[in-house]
Amino acid sequence: AEWARISSWSGPGQTSDGRPVSILANVQDGAGARSARETAAEGVGLFRTELCFLDRDSEPGVDEQAEIYAEVLEAFSDRKVVIRTLDAGSDKPLRFASSPDEANPALGVRGIRIAAQNPGILGRQLDAIAAAAKQTQSQPWVMAPMIATAAEAESFAAEVRARGLTPGVMIEVPAAALLADRLLRHVDFLSIGTNDLAQYTMAADRMSSELAALTDPWQPAVLDLVARTAAAGLAAGKPVGVCGEAAADPLLACVLVGLGVTSLSCAGAAVSGVGAKVGTVSEEQCRRAAEEVLTTSDPVEARNVAARVLG
Ligand code: PEP
Ligand code: MG
Repeated sequence: AEWARISSWSGPGQTSDGRPVSILANVQDGAGARSARETAAEGVGLFRTELCFLDRDSEPGVDEQAEIYAEVLEAFSDRKVVIRTLDAGSDKPLRFASSPDEANPALGVRGIRIAAQNPGILGRQLDAIAAAAKQTQSQPWVMAPMIATAAEAESFAAEVRARGLTPGVMIEVPAAALLADRLLRHVDFLSIGTNDLAQYTMAADRMSSELAALTDPWQPAVLDLVARTAAAGLAAGKPVGVCGEAAADPLLACVLVGLGVTSLSCAGAAVSGVGAKVGTVSEEQCRRAAEEVLTTSDPVEARNVAARVLG
């Protein structure tokens, strides 16, 4: 019965008392976007563009990139689509953009940092996104991965706005969460990547199964940074989403809503489970769960108190 109720969830995302929460899908190409369109996802909260190019030796030209991005925009025409610029490096090396000989790739030239080392690469990608937007008559939001400073957010935002697009940044580095209010002076939205935020907060490799207990997104320290980020968004009147694995856990999704997050983006397969669960709890329950979770000392306790409040 639980499964039937969940699989028949049809959106839109909202709590039982009607607080809207956009439930979005993470995609990596046009085919993924078209299958996500079959779910009740209201849009795309994270398009991981680097995954389109893992097999390339050289940077795809602007026209070819535009074609690929347009496929995703087409699948969700008239819907929200958040495109992430290349998050090359570390666990997703791109032969044409990553530095091959780094001792600590997760702490190396990855995400937005590739832009400084590869002159023009960001500008060309933004040109391609702008062309795809024009061609499909859509208005995608564009965000940068691995932002650590306000200066990075400022220069990224300028490049995005120069092309008539809407800029945001990902919150994946603890420094960015702590300075969320200052990043928000430059950008129109934030999106929290809990996979990397957990990795960098806990100083534990997200790829290591031995360290999975440390990179658990229920870690109270990680949720504290989510809370600060969401609070900064509320204060600035700007949306703050979560697009990491945390958003795919229905119980944790409710906690994120209680912390003030305004959208949740997860794998297409998780969309209806998350949407259905959020629909069973009130905003007040989410707030109470969030408050209690922030008083806990470990992820098991955090999950238990949330389960008590949220059923
Ligand atoms: C994240 O870090 O949580 C995220 C969404 O980005 P990725 O998993 O692609 O690093
Ligand atoms: Mg990430």
